[in-house]
Amino acid sequence: MRMEQYPLPIGSANCQYSLTSFHYGQTGAKKVYLQASLHADELPGMLVLHHLRPMLEQAEAEGRLQCEIVVVPVANPIGLGQTFMHDQMGRFDFASGANFNRSFPDLSELLITLLVDSLSDNAQHNMRLIRAGMRQLLDAVECRTPLDGMRIALMRMAHDADIVLDLHCDCEAVLHIYASLDHVAEAELLGRHLGARVILIADAIGGGCFDEMLFKPWLRLREHFGAEFPVPQSCFASTVELRGEQDVSHQLASADALGIYRYLCSSGMIADGTADAALATLAAVCAPTPLTGSVTAYAPESGVMSYVARPGDALQFGDVICDIVDPLTGRTHTVTSPIDGVMYSRVIFRYATRGMGLAKIAGKLGQRSEGSLLGP
Ligand SMILES: [Zn+2]
Repeated sequence: MRMEQYPLPIGSANCQYSLTSFHYGQTGAKKVYLQASLHADELPGMLVLHHLRPMLEQAEAEGRLQCEIVVVPVANPIGLGQTFMHDQMGRFDFASGANFNRSFPDLSELLITLLVDSLSDNAQHNMRLIRAGMRQLLDAVECRTPLDGMRIALMRMAHDADIVLDLHCDCEAVLHIYASLDHVAEAELLGRHLGARVILIADAIGGGCFDEMLFKPWLRLREHFGAEFPVPQSCFASTVELRGEQDVSHQLASADALGIYRYLCSSGMIADGTADAALATLAAVCAPTPLTGSVTAYAPESGVMSYVARPGDALQFGDVICDIVDPLTGRTHTVTSPIDGVMYSRVIFRYATRGMGLAKIAGKLGQRSEGSLLGP
C-alpha cells in the first residue's frame, strides 16, 4: 500500500486542505477508484472504506489483486470542516453556495477536438489515447479556488479507472445505486452484492455530477466518432447511496465493505473464489428502473409531519406517504404516492414547508426528461 497526498490551492492564509489517497496493487493494469463523502456530511461510506481497507491490504499481501485500487476515504475535506451553529453541513460549499457534487468539468467536446485526427480502428488504442487526453485536459485546468482544485484532483485520480464507486447516502433511505445504460449488468452485479433495493439508470443526469462526468465522455465520443473509430465504454462510474444519514454503524459498514469486496472479486479485480459462492446464495437483485421514472412527492401545505410509509415500501398510486398537520388550524393534509413504485428515500425533517420535496418513489415508467434529473 502506498499513501499519497494532494495539497489543494490555499484559499486563505495558513489554511490549506489536502486529499489523501491509499493505493493498493500495481499501477498499469486495471484500476478501481473508491471515494467516500463527497457530500461531506454523508458518512456511511467513510466507515465502509475503513472496513474495506484491511481486506484490500490482505489481498495485496497475498498477491490476489489483479488491479490497482485507489481509496479516498475523505473526498471532501473542505465540506468536512464546515459546521454552522453546531450543525455539520457538507452538501454545499459555504464559500460559494455550490453543491459539492455538481459542476465537475465535462471533457467530452474538448476531447473530440483534441483527438479528432488521432483515433484509429483499434478500440484499445483509442481507449489509451482518450485517457491520456483526459489527463492532459485536467492538467491544463486553471484552479482558482480550493474547491476547483479539489474537483480536479478527484477527477485526476479517477479518470482512468475502469470502475468508480462514489459512496454517498440519502436522507432516510434504502440502499440504491445510480448507473448508466451501458453498465446495467455491472450495476446489477454490484447491487446484488450490496442488497440494493433500487437501481436507477440514466445516461444524461445533468448538473455535472462526479460519476456522470466520468462516463459521459465515452458515450459522447462513441456517438461522435461512430463505428469507424470505435470508442469502448471504459468506465463504470456509479453513485452508491448507502441508505440514510443516520445509518452509520460497524454492523452495516462491515457488511457493505464485504459486499464491495465481493463485487470487486466477481468483476475480476481481486482473485477470491469465495465471492461467487457467496453470490450464489444471494437473492436476485431488484430490477433496474429509469431515473426518469423516479418521482418526488411534494408537500401541498406546511405543517408538522407524521410518516406512514417507510423507505423500501412498495407503494401503489394513492397509498399514503404521510400526514401534514397544520398546527394552528388543525387541518390535516394527506400526501399520497403519485405513482406505483418503491419509496426509496424520504426527508429527515418533520416539518414541511409548502412545495417541499418529501419522498422519492422509483417507478418503472419514465416520466421526466433526461438532463436535469437531480435536485439541488
Ligand atoms: Zn450525496
